[in-house]
This record gives sequence, structure tokens and C-alpha cells, in this order.
Amino acid sequence: MNKAKIEILWNKYEGGEKLAIVKVDPKHVSRVKRNPNFRFITNNLQHWIELSATAPFLDEKPRFSGLVPEFRLDKYHPLSEVELFLYEISKRGNARVLDIGLSHEGRHIKAVEILNNPNDSRFVWIDGCTHAREWITVSTALFLIEQAIVSRSKVNFIIVPVINPDGYVYTWTVDRLWRKNRRLPPTSQYFTRDECYGIDLNRNYDINFGGEGSSRDPCSHIYQGSSPFSEPETSAVAKLIWAMRHKIKLFLSLHSFHQLWSCPYAFTKAKNPHFDAHMEVLNSVRDAIYKTSGEIYNVGPLSTELYIGSGFSLDWTYAKVGIVHSYLSELRDKGVYGFMLPSNQIMPTALETWAGLRVAICKIFKVDC
Ligand SMILES: [Zn+2]
Repeated sequence: MNKAKIEILWNKYEGGEKLAIVKVDPKHVSRVKRNPNFRFITNNLQHWIELSATAPFLDEKPRFSGLVPEFRLDKYHPLSEVELFLYEISKRGNARVLDIGLSHEGRHIKAVEILNNPNDSRFVWIDGCTHAREWITVSTALFLIEQAIVSRSKVNFIIVPVINPDGYVYTWTVDRLWRKNRRLPPTSQYFTRDECYGIDLNRNYDINFGGEGSSRDPCSHIYQGSSPFSEPETSAVAKLIWAMRHKIKLFLSLHSFHQLWSCPYAFTKAKNPHFDAHMEVLNSVRDAIYKTSGEIYNVGPLSTELYIGSGFSLDWTYAKVGIVHSYLSELRDKGVYGFMLPSNQIMPTALETWAGLRVAICKIFKVDC
């Protein structure tokens, strides 16, 4: 970066490290994107600044669930409250809650099956909280569960709001920015170093395992684990997906943050064989979101829009399971609050995600919306 002109827009020191948001001349952008010390936020800074300057949509009234009285959809909830919501949901006629497996620490991983159209065998899959600190994915998944039930959607859903319950609990009790699951380190020499606990669940799927964008260092935040599906969380999810492989027609994994809807591949920049079909869906999703909230989401293959990574669920479902429409969305924001997204952005994020999802469903399932 020695010759590139960099303007520092914001910076702070954290744990002895200097963090900064910088503006780079467009001709140096591709170089910055390749540099692992930089994380790319936006190529349209002016628009980003304008959007952050406008007051965010603020729902003055608390937004309660229409199905579970007293449950606020516009708040973040610890795991116990999430489970209470799911329990109440399970009393609905067309929904049931399944225990699909146990986490490393023995918590139940729960999926909600919503049968809106029992005569149709096709399903939409949605999951959240693969990465523990991405709280907005849990709130959004709960809102999508509610919408899937109340909107009289004509399609069936299977939604796993918290793939990583151990990590999620840890973010509420010890470290808000925890990412991985909570498996013990491989050897006792690491027991005193917290960063050496856990496996990055989105590096643990059986696709290009151990390749670029993953790590074999247990102390890395992108540690891939000892082998594909070594983790109880990923193997539980994979087992259910595999069992439903002929039924799931749309797979969407929720993450944050970056404001991006992406398609395969993550592990290579090579174009996937369904690129045109994916982009047709993604462009409609982007437009629907913009129409709903005015927010800009980028769209495209994960490897070119974000970074290269191996062992991702969307690549596994696409390339190994055969779910053509496999996507990963990075929800709000573009890096102002990052993982600590304020709760007044929960509803706007959930609503725009539902708008995008609805359009994707219309295109893929060819149903009236
Ligand atoms: Zn993530």
C-alpha cells in the first residue's frame, strides 16, 4: 500500500491495535481488497454517507409478536427467550419444533417446520447464528418464522434460528464478539487462551475442506476443525439437509454484517454453472430491498463480493447436495456498528430481508406473491 493514497475517516485503538475506516482511490481498490489487513466496506462511499446521515427508521411503538403475546420482535433475546418463543410457536397448527441434535455443550438445536401447503413437498430452508456474535440473524430468523406463519405464504419452511447455541449463550454471558462454537482446544497447552476454543462452523462443511480462507490453527477465528463435520452442530444441520435434499428448493444462511446477498462459490472465484439464474434472483432481491427500505445490498458470488472461504454451508448445499438455489446473506450494516447493530435496526433489517426473501420465493417456486 506504500504508494496508494489513503484517507483515514475513523479510527480507534483496541487492545493495542489500531482500527481504521479508510477511503482509497478507486484505482487502488482491487489492491486493498487483496490485502488481508483490510476489509472492504463499500464502493459507493457517498451513498453510504448519505444513508447514515438520514435518521434510521424508528418504530416508536414496541413491536410485539402477533403470535406470542408479550414477545418483542424488536429486541435481542437470550437463548432461553428464543426457546420460549419457539415453544409457543409449536402450539400453532401448521408449525412444529424439532430437536435436530445436540451442541457440543449439550444444548438442543431446534428447527421450526412450517407446513403452509402440505400438498407441496417443497421447502425453503433458513438458518441463523452460525456465528455467535451475529445477533441480528437470530432476530431476523424469528421474524421470518412469524411471517412464514402469518403471511399465508403458499410454501413450506424449515427454519433453524440458532445453529450455534453454545456460542450464542457465550456472547450473552462472557464475550459479545465470540464467533466460533465452544469446543475445547485440541491440547491442554491452549486451555488458558480463550481464542483457542471453538471451531468456525462455516469452515467445517465438506466442501474444499481446509482450503483457502480457512485455518488449521485452533486459535484462529476461522479454524476449520479436525475434519469435515467434526462438529455436532454442523453434522446435525447437514443430516437434516441431506434428509430433505429433494425437498429444499431454496437455501438461505443468514450472517452479518456487510449488506450482501451472495451465491456460490465461496471457495473459488470460478463462475458456478447456475450463475445467470442466481443473478436473476439476486437482482430482484436487491431491488425489493431497496424499494422497502432504501438500503443498498450488494449481490454476487461470495468469493468475489466478500472473500474466498472454504468449508462454507452454501457451497456444500450447492455443489454436494444439489440445491441449486443456495444463498448466503450478510445483513446490516456496512460497518458502522457491525455486529453490535442497535436494536432500533432490528425491524428494518427483518422487514427488508422478508421483502428480499419473498421475491426470491416467487421466482424460484413460481407461486403468486
Ligand atoms: Zn457469519
